[in-house]
Amino acid sequence: MQTPDGLDDLYQDIILDHYRSPRNQGVLEYPHLHGEGFNPFCGDQVDLTLTLSGDGRIDGVGFLGQGCSISQASGSMLSDQLKGKTIDEAEEFVRTFKGIMQGSDVSQEQEEELGEIAALQGVKQFPVRIKCALLSWTTLQDAINEYRKTVS
Ligand code: ZN
Repeated sequence: MQTPDGLDDLYQDIILDHYRSPRNQGVLEYPHLHGEGFNPFCGDQVDLTLTLSGDGRIDGVGFLGQGCSISQASGSMLSDQLKGKTIDEAEEFVRTFKGIMQGSDVSQEQEEELGEIAALQGVKQFPVRIKCALLSWTTLQDAINEYRKTVS
């Protein structure tokens, strides 16, 4: 499985590392939030489960998926950075990443917050792959929307 040609080598290495060894792999048994996503353009699938601690911070993350390297690496990277965030912070994180993939400029501060996820910026050059990169993030947003319905 290859990443698109033309991505920076360092970025390629980060993406392939997450693709080959996805972080937080699995499905949590009693999640507070659960989302499943499918990208029909590429066949990518993701399943995201989250648990919350008593103070409303994400303390457990499960990510399981199959599909192309971009979709799976993106989900793994996202799963790696959710622990400790509140739902609001997670939502802000989704908004930042979507903005970047849709062409917004990235501030230094945002780039630092994104960490390894910044490796996915290069994917913007390949419009058909943007859906792959965003799949786990839109799935997380759906899970948050569902969760808010149940608690409000
Ligand atoms: Zn894909």
